[in-house]
Amino acid sequence: MTTTTTRELTHFVGGRHVSGTSGRFSDVFDPSTGQVQARVPLASADEVAAAIAVSEEAQQVWGAYNPQRRARVLLKFLDLIAKDTPSLARTLSREHGKTLDDAKGDIQRGVEVVEFAVGAPHLLKGEYTTGAGTGIDVYSMRQPLGVVAGITPFNFPAMIPLWKMGPALAAGNAFVLKPSERDPSVPLRIAELFLEAGLPEGVLNVVNGDKEAVDAILHDDRIRAVGFVGSTPIAQYIYATAAANGKRAQCFGGAKNHMVVMPDADMDQVVDALIGAGYGSAGERCMAISVAVPVGEAAAEALAAKLVERVKDLKVGPALAEGVDYGPLVSRDAVDRVSAYIQQGIDEGATLLADGRGYTVAGHENGFYLGPTLFDHVTPDMTIYKEEIFGPVLTIARAADYEQAVAMVNNHQFGNGVAIFTRDGDAARDFSARIDVGMVGVNVPIPVPIAYHTFGGWKKSGFGDLNQHGPDAFRFYTKTKTVTSRWPSGIKEGASFVIPTMS
Ligand code: NAD
Repeated sequence: MTTTTTRELTHFVGGRHVSGTSGRFSDVFDPSTGQVQARVPLASADEVAAAIAVSEEAQQVWGAYNPQRRARVLLKFLDLIAKDTPSLARTLSREHGKTLDDAKGDIQRGVEVVEFAVGAPHLLKGEYTTGAGTGIDVYSMRQPLGVVAGITPFNFPAMIPLWKMGPALAAGNAFVLKPSERDPSVPLRIAELFLEAGLPEGVLNVVNGDKEAVDAILHDDRIRAVGFVGSTPIAQYIYATAAANGKRAQCFGGAKNHMVVMPDADMDQVVDALIGAGYGSAGERCMAISVAVPVGEAAAEALAAKLVERVKDLKVGPALAEGVDYGPLVSRDAVDRVSAYIQQGIDEGATLLADGRGYTVAGHENGFYLGPTLFDHVTPDMTIYKEEIFGPVLTIARAADYEQAVAMVNNHQFGNGVAIFTRDGDAARDFSARIDVGMVGVNVPIPVPIAYHTFGGWKKSGFGDLNQHGPDAFRFYTKTKTVTSRWPSGIKEGASFVIPTMS
């Protein structure tokens, strides 16, 4: 008789791997095969509290480093993660299910924010006014908050943790990360690399877990700020609970990104863009395009015909196989949820042009696969239009004219990303100005801003007033102190009972 033991993952606290003690675990799957490949411990509130205590002590040391010395640790980390990327990407693909090239992109987009955060010495400089009044100088400084936390989703297990920890650490904070329990190995490896790069032990801690760990973070007074990315109901819950407990919070939620296709657009370019942005990473991207909005009947007919042809050629297979366009979904639950949406779309009267349900890959029959699905004649009253599906399902929602297309986007509950494809600069300018969405692409299907600009959605896609990465990240992870100083000349003026003005 043979027995197999499942690999047990850990937390990473105080510079070392720590076994879970709660007795609770969650299975980590290989979505390509459907097999359990490890189990991850789910931290108790006590384990979270212990990690926060370690963070608080370590922050005293790290926060006292000068900013350039902290930046040097980030530079060393960049060197180490570059060398580690081939193996890190494989780990990522195995737990998430995205293709190897896409996993490398996931890491790279995170790395770019760490590169930006290396500029911390400049970004942390305050303002200075000399001679604000007689003998009076005013200056401000940006100081770390202390211990801050990140709570991140499964779909970018490298990028989003790095978006949060890069600026937070560069600003002198200690960081507690609660990554997704579905793909925790990449964040654990990132913590090892930071340690190797010279980050003092305990400055970056990874606590695996679920709601219990999250609630422990939200109710601990020592946590000064919470950065969250995930689904909208949880984003709203975390934003409200963090605020009620006196913490800063920036919480980014779900999405339903439209691509408006003007009649003058190059239809082949549009189809390329839609296929990549709609089905890449199995549609499990918050910036995926899930609604194509062709303007006018002619554009709609041409688009639908071309998409049907292209969808047939998509290659779906194991994440690490060659020549695969997209891999499996993250879990069996995800396949079931998306399949239920497809049935609902049919029941509500949308036209199903391609049905991805029941898709199997030979030799990987238990993998979490779903073929590409395409709907036409989707209307704003349908559930598959209103809600985020988060799978390889592209819908065509036709608009009679440009104004109707703009209204559809503006009336939608989500406002993460949007794109317009056109050759008309005037239409593109008008669209960018009037559209009620945080990130806009003009002939760019996935307009994720570069690291030194900021990323954030509007409406139910984002809660909080500062975006991720770019200069906003340094505002979020620091508090401003303003010093008004006066060096008296020796002249005695007597006490004043009037509020000081700089007259
Ligand atoms: P999720 O909301 O299920 O989980 C996100 C995090 O919250 C995880 O760490 C999870 O452990 C934790 N969590 C889950 N349930 C919780 C609960 N009841 N109480 C407290 N914490 C809880 O999201 P997901 O499925 O991992 O990620 C996909 C979602 O994330 C999609 O909706 C996607 O659009 C969104 N997303 C948004 C952005 C953005 O920038 N707006 C980026 C990536 C993903």
